Amino acid sequence: MAVNLRDFFIALSENKVLIAGAQKFGLRLGAQSVVAGTNVDEVVKTIKRLNNQNISCTVDNLGEFVFEEAEALEAKKNILNVIEVIHAEKLDAHISLKPTQLGLNFDKEFCYNNLRDIVGTAHKYGIFINFDTETHETLYESFDLMERLHEEFDNVGTVIQSYFFNAQENIERFKDYRLRIVKGAYKEPADLAYTDKADIDANYLKLIEYHLLHGKFTSIATHDHNVIAHVEKFVKENNISHDKFEFQMLYGFRTEMQEDLATQYNFCTYLPFGKDWYGYFMRRLAERPQNMELVVKQVFNKKTNTMLGVAAAAFALGRITKRK
Ligand SMILES: Cc1cc2nc3c(=O)[nH]c(=O)nc-3n(C[C@H](O)[C@H](O)[C@H](O)COP(=O)(O)OP(=O)(O)OC[C@H]3O[C@@H](n4cnc5c(N)ncnc54)[C@H](O)[C@@H]3O)c2cc1C
Repeated sequence: MAVNLRDFFIALSENKVLIAGAQKFGLRLGAQSVVAGTNVDEVVKTIKRLNNQNISCTVDNLGEFVFEEAEALEAKKNILNVIEVIHAEKLDAHISLKPTQLGLNFDKEFCYNNLRDIVGTAHKYGIFINFDTETHETLYESFDLMERLHEEFDNVGTVIQSYFFNAQENIERFKDYRLRIVKGAYKEPADLAYTDKADIDANYLKLIEYHLLHGKFTSIATHDHNVIAHVEKFVKENNISHDKFEFQMLYGFRTEMQEDLATQYNFCTYLPFGKDWYGYFMRRLAERPQNMELVVKQVFNKKTNTMLGVAAAAFALGRITKRK
């Protein structure tokens, strides 16, 4: 059942019609619990509140699977605006971005130029830019772009997904970078990635240990208390200094645990915001169908019912096609 629900929500996350509908409706389906607003003013308020709790933020101006130049340029403008605000307001925050939002799916050089504008501006202010990793289809192009920018700017890093068989190879390639390590959020083919949770978890621990021992800086991004307990023990036993790593979690998840970890370690909350909240939110439901509670709480909202009804019907009729 869990596997079917995962497929269901991942398919929904990529559906063009529903993405457009969600943009029209604004934050719905309970997404407001895990998305920090639709505009910069709202996100700044949240960053200030979290900074006061000793929590740093990585800000994601939501958007992905972009296929038009104008849309990618709009995304770049929004990200540059967030960078200016982080600098002007002296916020403890950096940027997470998805290269497909900036044109990677249709023009690699155009995407590179957009990324260069962003990374160059952030570099001027000493702000770090994280390249979030998406599906295997764009993974290596994204890695290449980041590596190319790293020749010019040192404020870039990326994410290693432990479900890939060759994640160890990826982590060794980027040993000298600041890296976020995650389990992996997308549906990947069985010839490229582990599908069994135990295998993904075992590889996850192996990669974290490797980068803690050999890498530059490690962001351990998980809500899994077993992994966190393992890391706490590992850093103690291996005398790994607290300034070599941080824990990261997504905004709105395990909030008490986030606040507690921030009293002992470097801690960073991933803060998504913007009108393109829908794909992000559906992937969170895919990971953990219990997150449906967030939706159920909104069930008396009429528009929510309409959206869910349309979504379920479209899925059942097999009309949902994977976006390229
Ligand atoms: C900051 C951050 C950035 C990320 N960036 C990327 C990225 O760039 N690319 C990418 O592919 N993926 C990314 N991810 C998603 C990641 O790959 C996983 O899909 C996601 O984090 C779920 O895995 P998990 O390690 O949190 O724990 P899971 O394997 O989902 O859960 C393990 C156990 O932890 C407990 N648990 C988990 N969540 C909760 C909860 N909300 N409440 C109570 N208990 C809970 C449960 O006991 C569960 O069985 C990111 C995740 C985070 C936190």
